[in-house]
Parts: sequence; structure tokens; C-alpha cells
Amino acid sequence: MLDVSSFAAGQWIAPGTGARSIESAITGEALAQAGNAALPIQDMLGYAREIGGTNLRRMTFHDRAKMLKALALFLMERKQTLYDLSYDTGATLSDHKIDVDGGIGTMLVFAAKGRREMPDGHVYLDGPPEQLGKTGAFMGRHICTPLLGVAVHINAFNFPVWGVLEKLAPTLLAGVPAIVKPATATCYVTEACVRMMLDSGLLPEGAVQLVTGGLGDMLDHLECQDAVAFTGSAQTALKLRGTPNLMENSVRFASEQDSLNASVLGPDAEPGTPEFDLFVKEVQREMTAKAGQKCTAIRRIMVPHAHIDAVITAISDRLAKIQIGDPRLESTRMGALVSASQKRDVLEKAALIQAESELVFGAPDAFSVTGADKEKGAFVPPMLFHCSDPDIARRVHDTEAFGPVSTIMPYRDLPHAIDLLNKGKGSLVASVITNDGDVARDITLGSAAFHGRLYFNNRTSMGEASGHGAPLPHMVHGGPGRAGGGEELGGIRGVMHYMQRTAIQGSPDILTAIGEQWVPGGTETTHQDHPFTRTFSQITLGETFNSPSRTITLEDIETFAHFTGDTFYAHMDDAAAKANPFFPGRVAHGYLLLSFAAGLFVQPDPGPVLANTGLDNLRFMAPVAAGDSIRVRLTVKHKTPRNDEYGEVRWHVTLYNQNDDVAAEYELLTMNGY
Ligand code: NAP
Repeated sequence: MLDVSSFAAGQWIAPGTGARSIESAITGEALAQAGNAALPIQDMLGYAREIGGTNLRRMTFHDRAKMLKALALFLMERKQTLYDLSYDTGATLSDHKIDVDGGIGTMLVFAAKGRREMPDGHVYLDGPPEQLGKTGAFMGRHICTPLLGVAVHINAFNFPVWGVLEKLAPTLLAGVPAIVKPATATCYVTEACVRMMLDSGLLPEGAVQLVTGGLGDMLDHLECQDAVAFTGSAQTALKLRGTPNLMENSVRFASEQDSLNASVLGPDAEPGTPEFDLFVKEVQREMTAKAGQKCTAIRRIMVPHAHIDAVITAISDRLAKIQIGDPRLESTRMGALVSASQKRDVLEKAALIQAESELVFGAPDAFSVTGADKEKGAFVPPMLFHCSDPDIARRVHDTEAFGPVSTIMPYRDLPHAIDLLNKGKGSLVASVITNDGDVARDITLGSAAFHGRLYFNNRTSMGEASGHGAPLPHMVHGGPGRAGGGEELGGIRGVMHYMQRTAIQGSPDILTAIGEQWVPGGTETTHQDHPFTRTFSQITLGETFNSPSRTITLEDIETFAHFTGDTFYAHMDDAAAKANPFFPGRVAHGYLLLSFAAGLFVQPDPGPVLANTGLDNLRFMAPVAAGDSIRVRLTVKHKTPRNDEYGEVRWHVTLYNQNDDVAAEYELLTMNGY
């Protein structure tokens, strides 16, 4: 019997009063116990807010991203331990990969995005500065800073590792400590994962705590800087989000719930097309992966009326080949549900669906199980229902049987398919298997607002597609209405759930100081040495180089035109150029100006500048004609370390003509050695 502990205010606390027993999904026998009613809830919150938060906020976004990467690699080396534990949850090896490897992969993506898309500082800038006054002396911009509280993560039983890591990665990257509360049924796997992370020594003190078993009255003690991220059933979500203290203090409550996700076979995807076969395969996979215990699993299958029989036959043929049994056996394709009570719940919900439809595959009292006792383990067969009149039926659109249970239904035309899709009243994901762009667009316009994610797949994408049910860290996960109205992941968007966006207003120097990024109009400093001779560590924000000027001649323009082959009429034909609304006559090429600009500002000798890696936000603002002259102003806008050898310098570059009009503006990126 495993004792599953909690980690509270720096101490491991074993199960005690009020501990709950956890059974094996395969044998039904008691396996572990978890929970202790005497957890020091207030101390835990204080420990997180005061010690964890302070430690995390001392680190920069890059420090925290590096920590995530190290944690992910640490877990990767130990994933077999998590696999071994997970079999008793009923999951197969391929299910563990979704959970364990999927969770670690999510952490790695956040680590990479944190380094690439966030600054090596403490303030995240949301959008460019806004000029709020006439001269630019009063500016505004939006910034995001970490919440000064604690994030409480409440997770569902079906992904004991992914569930914890997909929430922890953006939270820690934001700089917010977390208290993790996994579902009791599978908390022994989460405990092992959290214990590994704590033992790694990679987390600062107070960053992560764990509650196994009940959460006690923790939600009653949360404050306005805290946040709750919940994943689980709609019923529990409703109860928890209604906690008076959460509402009184406007505590953020993000909810990822169940939903009646659907998949549509496009009208073009007739039997014999690659899309038809792909559809059948995706539906079968989504029905049986994790024994259907996936929040994104396909619950409703929508098929053109003419193909309903063909689809039922094809899906049933594939389901018939799925071997159900002990997940430790290599031949097992589908394991058990997590517990006997989950099995009861699934069968009850299936009965509700059956009241409106016909069971066409998978009788729950007639299926075989390999390597385990069917009566003791929480086994059920995949069950496919056919609802012939989905306009009248209600249960098939609102009953989530959280197991391998789906209902197939016919549609007449695309508007009907859209209507059926939207009858789910909000879902995490809907998929459409089609090779017709018009079908994809019509469904998007008619239904995207009902779904957090739309997944299109066809013959072109199927070799690489990640699958209907896979929430990817780069893409938003969550959905409106029934799905909870929450949002997670989606790259850096997911980090923002743990940060406060604040509009700041003030002078350019004040904005520069806060945002750690030079704002135009801010103080420009000059140094006696050319900035290209100064290392990454030496140069400072606002450091500016003003070049001498250079006159552009007609010969320059013609030489450039013939050398590059760019003989566009605006550079070569005065009358034609004049007829164009943008040009006074023949003008210099924009690229010629950029090249001359480089000639005006570079320092040619080998030095700290290693490479020019790009230009951003280039705008040509005033034409430059022969006889005009240009000069360049180059200002250090932002610095981002990239590795131990060099960092990226973002320069604000302005090209002026002889009248001080801005001819072009852009950001130049260079890699500079330390
Ligand atoms: P659940 O019964 O709603 O439980 C979810 C979590 O809430 C568990 O950690 C549970 O802890 C906790 N909880 C329950 N009552 C609580 C209370 N009074 N105070 C604090 N915490 C409380 O859901 P589940 O059975 O674990 O998971 C299955 C459901 O989750 C399905 O409906 C599925 O669709 C949904 N799900 C959604 C997503 C998504 O991303 N949208 C992902 C996975 C699953 P205990 O276990 O200790 O009761």
C-alpha cells in the first residue's frame, strides 16, 4: 500500500485523518492512500507567496526558461519510473507517452519560447509604445508583470503528468509559485513527478507545493493576486467557481471542462478517398486512446447522410481489432478506465445516450479482456452509438460519457452539420476532415466561435498532423461555454494568465526605465568609441551613433539598378515615376538606401559585432531622389542574451534626408559577443 504524501510549506506530510483509498484500475485492489485533513493551508499559502514568489521573481524570464528546460530533461531521464507507476491507472504504454512525454515536451516548448519570445528581464512588453501627446513627451505602453500571489492548480485524473506540467510550465515562466492538487484517483503518479522535480534541486524554495487528497478550505483563503486553474468536470467547476471568497476577491478562475467534441466528415470525403480512411482512423484512435478518458476525445461523429452505413461499418471493423486488457501487455491496445466508480459513471451515461440512439458496436456485457480479470478491473469495450435523428435528440449533445463512447449522426448539408456542431454549446476542439477549402471556410465562419480549436486534416497534412485530440503547447487549449470558457497554453498567451497587464503612461525615459527597452524620444547617449567596437555587456540602452551624411546621385541609382537587375520604372523613367502617386520623379531604391545606410554606420574591423541577423518593421516613409542626402541615427533599443558567447542587440535605425524628414525607419538586429 503506497502512502501518497503532500508537500506543504517545505515538509512532506504523509496521509492522515481523512485519507482516501485509491484502487488499481486493473485489479480493483486498494493500491494507495492519500489525503490529510490537517494540512497547514494558511502556511502553505504564505510559504508560496512570500518565499516561492520572491525567489521566482528574482529570476528573469530567461532564468526561469532555463530552469524549465533543466527540469524537463531531468524528468525525461526518469520517465520510466512514471510509466511503471501509470499502468495501475489503466493506461497503456502509448497512453503514458501522451501523458508523460507530452507533459515533458510541453515544458520544453515553454522553455524554448521563454528564451526566444520573452526578454531576459522582469517585465514583459505587450505591444509597442503609443504616442499620447503631440511631441512624444508623453507616451504609453502595456506591460505584464507576474501576479504577486500563488496559483492553485486543480487537475483531472486522466493526465496525472501532462496535467501538472502543462499548467506548471507557464506559471513558473511567469514567475508565480504553484500549489498543485491532482485528482486523487491518480495522484500517486503526480506525486512521483513532483517529488522528482523537488529532489532535482532545480526549483527555488517555495516554487511548487503539492496537495494529495482533499484541498481543504484553501479556496476560502485566496486573495486578489492568486489564481485558480481548474481542469475537470463541468459539475465540479460550477461548484468551485461559485466559491464566495473567489467571487468577492475577483480571484482569476480558469476552467477547462468536459465538452462534447465533434468530428465532421466533409461532404467531399466519400468512401474511397484518402480523407474517408483518415476520418475512420482518427475516430477510432480518439475513441480508444486513454480508453476514451480524454477531454478532447471525439464524442459526436457527423457524417453525410449517404455515407452513414459505410462509416459505421468501417469504424466497427477497426474497433473490433482493438485488444482490451492488462495495459502492461504489449498486445493491449486499450486498457481500463481509472476506477470502478468511473466505470459505473460511464455505463450510466452510455445508457442515457442509448435512450436516444442505437448501440451499433460494443456491448458492455459481451467483450473479452486479455491478461486481467474483467470483473475486477474497470474494463469497458469501445461503444459506438448511432443516433438517426440528431435534431430531436438532446442527450447525445450534452452527455459526456468519459470513456470510449461516441455517437455517430447523419447530416443533410453543411448548414445542418454546422448546426449539429454548435449544439454541443461550446467545445475544446472540433475536427473536419475535408480536402475542400470552401467547406473548411464555411464551417469556420459558422462554428469557430463555438470551439477553442478547429482541426482540419486531409491527404496533404495527414502525414504530419498531430491528431484531433492532442493539445499542443503552441496552440490555445480551452473552449467557450460547456468547455468552461477558459484558455490555457497557446505559447506565451498561456503565460499571461499568471500575469497582470498594466497600462503605463509617462515620459519616454520613464517608459524606458520600466520596460528595459529604449523608447523613441528617450535620452540618447553617445560614447567616444563607435558602438560596433563595444561588447554586448558594454553597450547601454539609448547609446546612439549619428553618421555623417551622403548625397545620392543619379549615377548611384543607375549603377544599383543595373547591378541588381532592379530596373523598376520608378528608378529609371522620370515621366512614369511622376505619374505614380507616391513619387515626385525618379527615386532611389529603398534597398539602395539601406545599403548606403549600412555603409554609413558600420565599423569595418573585426570586433564584437559578429553578424547582422535581420531587419524588423522596415518602413520607407519619404522618397529620396537624386541630389538628396541621407544620414543615419542608430540607437541601442534592446539587448537579449542568446547563449554564453553572444547576445542579440536590437538597434532602432532612422534614416533622415537633408531636411530631417524621416526617409526610413527599422530595427536592425546584430549578434554581439560579450
Ligand atoms: P472532477 O471529478 O471534476 O475532479 C477534478 C478535480 O477537482 C480533481 O482534482 C478533484 O479532486 C477536484 N475536486 C473535486 N471536488 C473538489 C472540491 N470540492 N474542492 C477542491 N477540489 C475538488 O473531474 P475528474 O473526474 O478528475 O476528471 C474527469 C473530467 O475532467 C472529465 O469530465 C473531463 O472531460 C474533464 N477534463 C477536462 C480537461 C480539459 O482540459 N478541458 C482535461 C482533462 C479532463 P478529487 O479527485 O480529490 O476529488
